[in-house]
Amino acid sequence: MVELKTANELARMRVTGGFVAEVLAELRTKAQIGVNLLELEAIVRERIRQRGAVSCYWDYAPSFGRGPFRNTICLSVNDAVLHGLPFDYTLRDGDVLSMDLAVSIDGWVADSATTVIVGTPDAEDARLVRATEEALEAAIAVCLPGNRIGDISAAIAGVAHAAGYPVNLEFGGHGLGRTMHEDPHIANAGRAGRGYRLQPGLTIAIEPWFARGTDRVVTAEDGWTIRSADGSRTAHSEHTVAITEAGPQVLTRIG
Ligand code: MG
Ligand code: MG
Repeated sequence: MVELKTANELARMRVTGGFVAEVLAELRTKAQIGVNLLELEAIVRERIRQRGAVSCYWDYAPSFGRGPFRNTICLSVNDAVLHGLPFDYTLRDGDVLSMDLAVSIDGWVADSATTVIVGTPDAEDARLVRATEEALEAAIAVCLPGNRIGDISAAIAGVAHAAGYPVNLEFGGHGLGRTMHEDPHIANAGRAGRGYRLQPGLTIAIEPWFARGTDRVVTAEDGWTIRSADGSRTAHSEHTVAITEAGPQVLTRIG
């Protein structure tokens, strides 16, 4: 079921979104050569505690993961792209780090992800990260009342294919609000003009992610981390977006 939000509810989601944006911005500056992933996890845990927020990941136990997740952020390095379980790993020069954060404040959820290249970027990695960011912007631009979910999917795939990246259809975006994952599902490729019609008050997380060499994924031995099947590097960008009469509003952007 799709729940449309009132202006007041959107304002509350924007509060959560602002917090998520601030934490991710802080992590972008702290993800440096020599920093351990567990240090980044500890920062998020502390920020959540200080704010009185609730992690959407803690104790999360979906069908695809192994047992309850006991961390507050997903950190995915290099060929890992989604649901990365933070572990004892020290970041190295050139690592591609995706950080995905979803929290709830006063019952309202926001979900956002960003990818940073640690130290000196490889040119092809930088191109990949840029493609996910451009796909996200292209998708946000078509978040208008009367358009359809397929328009979002097609916008993402259009950027991916133009850049030469295949698109996985298994993991994509989703509705959200009172919980992290709600209807509708938003595939990262699809036919324009098809699917659920966008209406004011709809709130969705749009999350293009691509791997340099494949659209296939494998689950790592930790039971959570999703990696590219060919070991190629990956990137992920995500925002929580509200459809309104005045156009798309990105709830997880600072300012
Ligand atoms: Mg997310
Ligand atoms: Mg999401």
